[in-house]
Amino acid sequence: MSFSSGVKEELALVNSPARHCAIALIAALFHLCPVLEKEHAGIRTENPYAAAAFEAALRRVRLENIEVAKSGREIVVQIAGEQQVTRFLEMLKLDHAVRMGEAGSGQLADQAAAWPVSPVLLQKTCCRKTFLRGLFLAAGSVSDPSGSYHLEIAPLGGEDAEAVLKLLSSIGFQAKCTRRKGRSVVYLKDGEQISDFLGSIGATQSLMKLENARILKDIAGNINRQVNFEAANLKKTGIASDRQMEDIALIERTIGIHSLSEPLQQAARLRTENPDGSLQELADASNPPVGRSGINHRLQRLAQIAAKIREKEGYASWQ
Ligand SMILES: [Zn+2]
Repeated sequence: MSFSSGVKEELALVNSPARHCAIALIAALFHLCPVLEKEHAGIRTENPYAAAAFEAALRRVRLENIEVAKSGREIVVQIAGEQQVTRFLEMLKLDHAVRMGEAGSGQLADQAAAWPVSPVLLQKTCCRKTFLRGLFLAAGSVSDPSGSYHLEIAPLGGEDAEAVLKLLSSIGFQAKCTRRKGRSVVYLKDGEQISDFLGSIGATQSLMKLENARILKDIAGNINRQVNFEAANLKKTGIASDRQMEDIALIERTIGIHSLSEPLQQAARLRTENPDGSLQELADASNPPVGRSGINHRLQRLAQIAAKIREKEGYASWQ
C-alpha cells in the first residue's frame, strides 16, 4: 500500500465525536464529489476510505436511509427520501441555494459542486481541520516520505483552490497553488509542514512514519556531509604531501638527506615512505614517539630548507 493510501486508511478510522465536525467532513466530501437528486444526496467516489468516512459521518449526525452501492470501482454513498435530502441540505446550509423544483437531476449535482461551502460550517478550528481531512480523503495525495516531500489536494476549481489556501493559512499552513491540465493544485512542499498537516487532519500514525523517515534522511545527510568533509581533508593532505615530497627530493638532489639532523632525516624518510599518510600517522610511526605538532614542525623545517636551496640556486619559488 502506498504511503498516501495508508494515510487515507488511517483517516477513514478517525472518529469525529462532535456533531459540528461530522458536518464539516460531510460538507467537504459533498463539495468535491456530490450526488444530488430530488430523492438522493451523498457522494460518488472511487476511494473506499472517503466512502467509509462519509458513511460514518452520516450515521454520526443521525441521517437515515443510508444507501451504499458499488459498481466497478465507483462507490455511491447516499441518503434516500425527500425529507432526508431536505435535512441534509439544511445541515450544510445549502437549503436556500437549492431550488429543487427548477433543475433536472443531472444539473443538481453540477450545481452542488459550484456552491461555496458555507463559512458558518468552518468557524471552529476543529471543524476546519476536519473539513481538510474530508478534502484530503476525496482529492489528496502525499508522496512517500523516503523520497521528496510533496502533499497536494487536486484537482480543484480556481475558486475552490483560493478558498482552500485561505483555510490552510487560517490554521498556519503556507501552501502554494499551481495549475495542472487546466485545474488548480494546492500543495505543500516542506517536510515539517506536511508532518504538521497530517497531524492536524488526524493521521497521527502516518505522521510518526513521516517523522521517522525525516530522521533517517537527516542522519544519512549528516553521514554524507561527514564523508565529504573527510574527502576534502584527504585531498588537502594529498596536496601538502606532494609539496613535501618535492621539497625532500630537492634536498636529496642538492645537499643530501644525510646533511640533515637525525629527526629531520626521519621525518623526510617517513613522508617519502607514506605519501598519503596524515600527520597523525607520521607522528605514530616516529621513533622515538613525537606528537602531531612535532612532526608538523619538522616538515615545515624541511620546507624552509628547500626554500633556501631554491633561493640560493635561483629556482623560482615553489608555487
Ligand atoms: Zn468541530
